[in-house]
Amino acid sequence: MANIIGRNPQSCSRECLQMSNGLTDVFVNVLVLSGSALAKTVSEKRLIVWLAEKDQSRVGAGTVDFDLWEMPWDSNTFEEDRAFLLRVVLGAKERLGWEKLDYRPNEDMLFPCLDHFSELISGLSQIQPGALEEWLAESDPSDPVMSGFPRCSRHQTLLSIFGCHICNNL
Ligand SMILES: [Zn+2]
Repeated sequence: MANIIGRNPQSCSRECLQMSNGLTDVFVNVLVLSGSALAKTVSEKRLIVWLAEKDQSRVGAGTVDFDLWEMPWDSNTFEEDRAFLLRVVLGAKERLGWEKLDYRPNEDMLFPCLDHFSELISGLSQIQPGALEEWLAESDPSDPVMSGFPRCSRHQTLLSIFGCHICNNL
């Protein structure tokens, strides 16, 4: 079983990033750690919370495929936020926050996936119309994106509706 990340629905399978379920957990963990440390603006925090929702412990293993264009991009700050996400990937490669993990990610497997993710992000020029608005409309007032972006007391990570991605996937 695996999860596949593409750029948009027209992405061909050759350019998509495919990872095993276990590697996907690690991939999301390191991005959430880095992103939580680097995110400053609301639109940046939203992107990390959205990634943290790709939580296989809550939604099922092998069910977190996504296309980059369906992330809750804010069209007003798209260029800046895309640059932010590239910095998040770079931070993950610099092992930002890894001291909070109770294991050591396998860099030989993880880093090529992070590089691949960067390539997908760099080539992203289109966002799905209404993705941000729909995501927010589905949120309850008590959800993290609506209630001041609470963090895990143990990992300082931004929480999703499922809680802390790292606590959930220990
Ligand atoms: Zn945690």
